[in-house]
Amino acid sequence: MAAYDYDLFVIGGGSGGVRAARVAAALGKRVAIAEEYRFGGTCVIRGCVPKKLFVYASQYSEHFEDAAGYGWSVPPASFDWNTLLANKDREIARLEGLYRRNVESSGATILDSRAELVDRHTVRLVADGRIVSADQILIATGGHPSPHPALKGHEHCITSNEAFHLKTLPQSIMVGGGGYIAVEFANIFHGLGVETTLVYRGMKILNHFDDDLRTGLQEAMSNKGIEIVCRAVAEEVVRRDDGRLDVRLSNGDTRTVDQFMLAMGRSPNTEGLGLAAAGVATGPTGAILVDRYSRTNVDNIWAIGDVTDRVQLTPVAIHEAMCFVETAFRNNPTAPDHDLIATAVFSQPEIGTVGLPEHEAAKAFEEIEVYRASFRPMRNTLSGRDEKMLMKLIVDAASRKVVGAHIMGTDAGEMAQLLGIPLKAGVTKDDFDRTMAVHPTAAEELVTMYKPSYRVRKGERID
Ligand code: NDP
Repeated sequence: MAAYDYDLFVIGGGSGGVRAARVAAALGKRVAIAEEYRFGGTCVIRGCVPKKLFVYASQYSEHFEDAAGYGWSVPPASFDWNTLLANKDREIARLEGLYRRNVESSGATILDSRAELVDRHTVRLVADGRIVSADQILIATGGHPSPHPALKGHEHCITSNEAFHLKTLPQSIMVGGGGYIAVEFANIFHGLGVETTLVYRGMKILNHFDDDLRTGLQEAMSNKGIEIVCRAVAEEVVRRDDGRLDVRLSNGDTRTVDQFMLAMGRSPNTEGLGLAAAGVATGPTGAILVDRYSRTNVDNIWAIGDVTDRVQLTPVAIHEAMCFVETAFRNNPTAPDHDLIATAVFSQPEIGTVGLPEHEAAKAFEEIEVYRASFRPMRNTLSGRDEKMLMKLIVDAASRKVVGAHIMGTDAGEMAQLLGIPLKAGVTKDDFDRTMAVHPTAAEELVTMYKPSYRVRKGERID
């Protein structure tokens, strides 16, 4: 093994790569990790973390409105985009520093350079041309927003990457797409006072989610004043002389906006990595193909996280990293468990979900029970906010297991995290019924829905 410079070379300093490097180094392995940009990856630098900070910022407009019903008179509020950007940048820099320090203290070597494969054991550092060798190589290079080159004028569009650094807050924006990023950013911009339109090709936003969540969120967003245009796509974006954009839609409309943000999926960062030189196989989207242990077709090269396009979520990449270390360095082959991943969409209202949506559960099981509650949460009473909360449990009638839990409303993401544990443990509806409520909370509704709202047998709803 000493024939190689390192036991492990990690390409990519995001959530997955950093975790793998730290844990392997802590085992006493000789580890190097190369990052071409900033440590922290998509999540910390241009994803989850700055997004959540923007979500918090955007919620204040409603908080100020809601305060009146509770007796507060709030002077006319104003918002300064540059203050938000500067504070956000400071926080991201702090986190990036923490990431670096954690890697350093684990004993791994940090290489501030792009790294490309030369062959299955050799890597070239682009910054200084140095060639290093490693016994095992882990690719954790993540992904990037798809630039959607099929759209005429796509070069005038921004993606979430640029949205974090806009010099000025636009007065109007159109967001293309109906997934996580489109929905979250449409709410952020709207909350910050931007006239916001979301254009989505499907019938209803958030494809693949439970239908009640989709309907509930789309209605709530529309009620706030976000225009949602479904069954339409942008066909051409033209930059006008005044710098604004004319967006021609497939439904015949043309809208003029300050910015058009594409949020139509993310693509794996595999271009120019030297995968062909090392003999590593990729799939049709460019994602690296791996087996259930995250091993590529080249047995000393592994890949985790968004570059493998399995489930594009930070905690999944971290989990895959831990499993990789178990498998590669602890002689304990461990396949990542991608079943029952709890997730949140930081829309407004927020969505938290774990397990099967109703339509999938209805296919998977002979009969399901659906428990559903839609109510105005207490916090919206005095404020007068006309926004409902939704809770839904899906139960397999035969085993009584809760196979899906879906929430829309304040703190839905926090609840999804907690619900993820019992669902993973195979909790039954009877366990929910035996659980004492925490009162007064919104979450107590989860343990007080005693009678099914309806059942679905062989795919047919029966009341
Ligand atoms: P998503 O896969 O969530 O959504 C992509 C959207 O773009 C879908 O609405 C899709 O439509 C639409 N789309 C794709 N191709 C086209 C096209 N050619 N023309 C028109 N519309 C198109 O991807 P995002 O970019 O929103 O986010 C990427 C991933 O990042 C997510 O899947 C998620 O895993 C992760 N993420 C997680 C977050 C969280 O945990 N809160 C937050 C942000 C991102 P259709 O549905 O019809 O296919």
